[in-house]
Amino acid sequence: METRVGLGFDVHRLVEGRPLVLGGVSIPCDRGLAGHSDADVLTHALMDAILGALRAGDIGEHFPDTDKRWEGARSTDLLRRVVEIAEGAGYGLADADCVVVMEEPKVAPYRAEIRASLARAARVEVSQIGVKATTTEGLGATGRKEGVAAYAVVMLERRGA
Ligand code: MG
Repeated sequence: METRVGLGFDVHRLVEGRPLVLGGVSIPCDRGLAGHSDADVLTHALMDAILGALRAGDIGEHFPDTDKRWEGARSTDLLRRVVEIAEGAGYGLADADCVVVMEEPKVAPYRAEIRASLARAARVEVSQIGVKATTTEGLGATGRKEGVAAYAVVMLERRGA
């Protein structure tokens, strides 16, 4: 198949005493995301979208949270590995779009930096990575600021292994 699509979704809980890392960029905030790695929810959604397009399982399978190797890992380093898995299977990342769902802080001031960071990790042009953010208008877990969610959709194209 010449092109494949994948969808990724992730949620992490907001807690005190953790950094808030989105797309490899540290964002000033009084709380951060809980998790085994740096809990970069946006990068996790993007990784899962790529693995989904490859029909190659999910990030829990590739980077289990029971594995000491991934404790405190930079998720953008893990994204790099997922892109290598795609390349090994003969696919390159053609395009990606992502949505971060959180009440605050605003993501817009960091959007350019986040896109550049993700593009660097995935070794594509910035124009191939879209990042948007939205709130849920105070509704649900993200609205109550209990956590942050992220969605990603990707298209992979065959490049030859
Ligand atoms: Mg995650």
